Amino acid sequence: MKVLRTVADVRAWRAGAGRVGFVPTMGALHAGHLSLVERAVRETDAAIASIFVNPTQFGPSEDFAAYPRREAEDITLLETYACAAAFVPPVAEIYPPGDATRVTPGPIAAPLAGAARPGHFVGVATVVAKLLAIVRSDVAFFGQKDFQQLRVLQTVARDLRLGADIVGCPTVREPDGLALSSRNAYLTAEQRRDAVALSRGLFAARELWERGERDARVLRARVRELAGTGGVALEYVSVADPLTLAELDAQSETAVISLAARVGRARLIDNVLLGMDLADLR
Ligand code: AMP
Repeated sequence: MKVLRTVADVRAWRAGAGRVGFVPTMGALHAGHLSLVERAVRETDAAIASIFVNPTQFGPSEDFAAYPRREAEDITLLETYACAAAFVPPVAEIYPPGDATRVTPGPIAAPLAGAARPGHFVGVATVVAKLLAIVRSDVAFFGQKDFQQLRVLQTVARDLRLGADIVGCPTVREPDGLALSSRNAYLTAEQRRDAVALSRGLFAARELWERGERDARVLRARVRELAGTGGVALEYVSVADPLTLAELDAQSETAVISLAARVGRARLIDNVLLGMDLADLR
């Protein structure tokens, strides 16, 4: 596996790589990230993953400094999973001196994490646009776990004509249901036990849906009842249209139920998609 540090390194590698599949990450890799790498390896000629803790997507009081960094282990893991290249740039390679250009996504970035974390999606859209401009991949793989991020990036890639398909991949979970996240490392043993309430609440709402319940208010209430227990402080529970993320007030045949919560010092998110397939989102 090639470890690439500069834009010039990536350009040279890319020239002979054929159909390229790209997996952008912030590192501290877990089985969720690796499922995206497996997909890229399977579906393209050459898989490339980036490891870059992107400063512009963190708010001033967020965990940029504390975010787990495990570069050597991550590189070994990517190699084990048959990734052809890892792009691990220093900050100045992505944000060169004088850098001042930002990508501002439209209304899809306004609710949910967009409201809770001002500027977050400008940082995400900017870094992914830069990374796609550098890597020029044919396709890029993102996790359903960050559902709004997936939809924001699909919209940005379409609007800016970035030339890569943005493909969503299912959330990988612990056996008890907790969605894998690099931030789970912040949880104490007790908080880890409490955190299972998030997926339990979402799965309970999905069960109601499967039994025919379509009223967004009933689904939202069910999640709140089960997820907001113990050490879980819910930030939002949303039942929204999966295409626009507009909040649903009544009946709908498709929905994404998503939530964000504080558990100890970790901010965790999760979601379930109802009435449609991830593969139908483009
Ligand atoms: P991050 O390193 O947290 O920025 O995540 C990099 C990519 O991995 C994003 O596309 C995430 O949506 C995806 N990802 C993170 N956690 C999971 C998970 N549990 N299952 C599937 N994909 C995930």
